Formats: sequence, structure tokens, C-alpha cells
Amino acid sequence: MSIAALLSESAQNDTQNEWVLASNNNGKLAEFKRLFAEAHLDVTIVPQGQLNIEDAIEDGLSFVENAIIKARHASRISGLPAIADDSGLCVPVIGNAPGIYSARYAGDHGNDEKNNAKLIKDLQPTREQRPDTPIDGLFVCVLAMVRHADDPLPIIAQGLWHGEILEKPHGDGGFGYDPLFWLPDLQATAASLSAVDKNRVSHRGQAIQQLLAQL
Ligand code: IMP
Repeated sequence: MSIAALLSESAQNDTQNEWVLASNNNGKLAEFKRLFAEAHLDVTIVPQGQLNIEDAIEDGLSFVENAIIKARHASRISGLPAIADDSGLCVPVIGNAPGIYSARYAGDHGNDEKNNAKLIKDLQPTREQRPDTPIDGLFVCVLAMVRHADDPLPIIAQGLWHGEILEKPHGDGGFGYDPLFWLPDLQATAASLSAVDKNRVSHRGQAIQQLLAQL
């Protein structure tokens, strides 16, 4: 049976018109809300916090494993289809850190200021060695959608966004590592872009477009 057929079968049940969004990250939630509204999907997205669902234990070793873990967790507790985003920043010169540990890089989950400070510090030796070479970075977003907790065929989408890592934060918008993420083509950081412009080009925007194409 095709994914479209499976989804339309699910949609015949009233409650299946609600999907849980498996995230308690306010920055992500705001971006999702806007992106789903623009997509005019015939589903209501309910953030897991509204259903008192706490974060899953993310013990996978990759973005895709963690996205599936989070989606299954939210679906198992809610009994609804669920969609999860596992995302982060990879910096090749430090072994793709912070990677899947982006939210807790400095030890304190979701503390953007401390995470950015640690990244600046960890990149300092590289900057001193090669002061004239930009440091590449890559935002990654993997989305996993499960129709039920044990769904054997999750829908997976992945978006990648290339940029450079600045030495100092710049810009007031966005969240997470956005103030350090420089986009040479746009001559702006991700934190200086409007919400609409960020969604148009970001890892999350790309992943959502891919997911929608698969539905
Ligand atoms: P997750 O909630 O475990 O997927 O962790 C995501 C973390 O990656 C966030 O807390 C941010 O630190 C970082 N991150 C993901 N997407 C973005 C983004 O769009 N801008 C800035 N930081 C991001």
C-alpha cells in the first residue's frame, strides 16, 4: 500500500486529523507553525507540551535515529500520528560537533547562550592556526513522521544548510546557533534574516518541503 493510501486511510478516523509535534523547543515550534500554516495541510498540529508529553530520551547516535525515537515516543503516549524534528549544527573542523548534541553542547539543555560561547571557545585554536580561512558549518534537520508508535515505515526527510561560523554573535532573530551562522551569499547571519526568509532557505524549511512532497 502506498504512503498516500496509508495516510488517507488514517485520515478516515477523526482523531487522525491531529498530529503531535514531538518538540518542546519554542524556536522550532514557531518555525513549524509558520511552515505548516503555509502548506495548508488538512491536519491540526498539536505541540506535545499541550498534551503534557515530556521530551523523549534521545539516545540515538544520529539525527535520523533520534528523530524516530522522538516521534515514536510522542505517538505512543498520545495515540496520535506524530512528527519529530532532530536538528543541529555540524562543524567539520571539530569532528562535526556539536552535531546531535547541539541542544546540550555546554551541558545545560537548551541554553543557547552557553552553547554559543562553548562553540566560539572550541573554534579558537583553529582560528589562531588559520586566521584567514572561514570555518564551515552545516545545519542539519531530519524529520520523521510516524502514523502510529510502531509504524514500520516512518516518513523521513532531511534538509542541509551550509554556512560559516562567526567569531562573535550577530543578529537578534531566530534561536540556537543562528547568531553565529553566517551566510556569505546573503551577507547576513541566520539570526538577521526575517522568519519568512529563514524558512525559505533553512535546513528546516527544506526538510518540510521534502516531507510534504512525500505525503
Ligand atoms: P534537538 O531539539 O535535540 O533537535 O536540538 C536542536 C538544537 O540544535 C537546538 O537546541 C539548537 O541548538 C540547534 N538548532 C537546530 N535548528 C536550529 C536553527 O534553525 N537555528 C539555530 N540552532 C538550531
